[in-house]
Amino acid sequence: MKRSRLPLIALAAAGALALSACAGGTTTPGDDAAPEPEDVSFEEGTTMAELNEAGTITIGTKFDQPLFGLMGPSGVPEGFDVEIGKIIASELGISEDNIEWVETVSANREPFIENGQVDIVIATYTINDERKEVVSFAGPYYMAGQSILVLADNDDITTEDDLVGQPVCSVTGSTPAAMLEEIGAEPVLTDTYSNCLEPLRNGTVVAVSTDNVILAGLAAQNEGEFKVAGEPFTEEPYGIGLALDDTDFRMWINDVLEESYEDGRYEEAWNSTAGTVLPFVDPPAPDRY
Ligand code: GLU
Repeated sequence: MKRSRLPLIALAAAGALALSACAGGTTTPGDDAAPEPEDVSFEEGTTMAELNEAGTITIGTKFDQPLFGLMGPSGVPEGFDVEIGKIIASELGISEDNIEWVETVSANREPFIENGQVDIVIATYTINDERKEVVSFAGPYYMAGQSILVLADNDDITTEDDLVGQPVCSVTGSTPAAMLEEIGAEPVLTDTYSNCLEPLRNGTVVAVSTDNVILAGLAAQNEGEFKVAGEPFTEEPYGIGLALDDTDFRMWINDVLEESYEDGRYEEAWNSTAGTVLPFVDPPAPDRY
């Protein structure tokens, strides 16, 4: 991969052009850390070449998950997954203003990739064998684990065993929903995790269960109301979903991830988003299956 960066003046000019070309000229909080587009070229016929030529990429992410992907007043989502998307776009020579962000919820991630509605999905997306039958995954770039969110004054629920026979909110098409079924809880399913908060407040469910980092974001967003109970009880390796047979693109994204681990961009992306609430941990090595 070519790593030479454009001279600063050229970058500033390109940035000004990109801004003036962008109707509404949105600005993104955390712009300081925003990666500038790379001066790159790719082998003809690859997805990287196609995206680079198009000058734009469509990325599916969550819009309601604080710390990872949350639509803010700026009109563009913010969070760690969003920052990872910006790093990938930058390496394709695409500025962050030219990323088209599409909301993907847990249940539509595979179909959106399969139908070509998005180029990639970066959305707290667990890599597993079932999903690998229909899409492929670069990464993992983060290791989460399923956990439990309860009302702040609830000391009765501390492990997954306490969920057996109890109504617990999660999301259709997610790995935690399947796990709740497996452990004998009574899953109450909706389409996004933020929709689980009202049922938790009004006692329709006793807990919300999904990845620890998602729950930490929801707890931080609603300070004092909720708490994360116990320890994570599954492993949820987060991957970047893409078309099933696009091995070149998958391997290239793995290269980009590894490079961002080495040059500090990954850690910077973490620190400016999820790192405001959660500790930094060294990222896992990509699985080049
Ligand atoms: N990581 C889990 C999954 O991919 C839960 C989080 C989510 O639904 O986005 O199913």
